[in-house]
Amino acid sequence: DLEIAIKVVIVGNGAVGKSSMIQRYCKGSFTKDYKKTIGVDFLERQIKVEEEEVRLMLWDTAGQEEFDAITKAYYRGAQACVLAFSTTDRDSFVAINKWKKKVEDECGSIPMVLVQNKIDLIDQATVKPDEVESLARELRVRLYRTSVKEDLNVDQVFNYLVDQYLAI
Ligand code: GDP
Ligand code: MG
Repeated sequence: DLEIAIKVVIVGNGAVGKSSMIQRYCKGSFTKDYKKTIGVDFLERQIKVEEEEVRLMLWDTAGQEEFDAITKAYYRGAQACVLAFSTTDRDSFVAINKWKKKVEDECGSIPMVLVQNKIDLIDQATVKPDEVESLARELRVRLYRTSVKEDLNVDQVFNYLVDQYLAI
């Protein structure tokens, strides 16, 4: 059987919840005081899509995002991308354009999705719903609002990317 394996990179500023999202999706767990990195290059999860086994490899950054030093090895061969920011961190929202460009410079045009994480903290939001929706339209990417903590919409993000990837 031909196996489908998809390398997915999760990009965005530090502390938006990237490692937590990978952990949640691949291991089903969440922790509040989480090590800065998960200590491995990627975690994986296998799902079944229309009778096909699809293996998702979710690549984590080792916390280098603050130094703008994410290596080419991280991006190499990526076939789909999550652009992540936090509801409570305006800088992380403003940085999305930069992250998208970085991915496109390294990977060309691959399926992408915009993720507003920590939606459970909406009371402390530093971004307005309509400006997030505008950005998604401007970048021509679908928007998902997630809470990795509450396990809200996380599976949907990756299902969407797989659908986009298989539709190419
Ligand atoms: P990374 O630097 O982008 O990998 O971010 P981490 O995954 O290390 O998460 C940073 C902090 O945000 C950790 O304390 C997480 O527990 C917390 N966090 C991640 N996702 C959520 C979420 O959906 N809601 C809340 N309230 N906290 C979250
Ligand atoms: Mg991390």
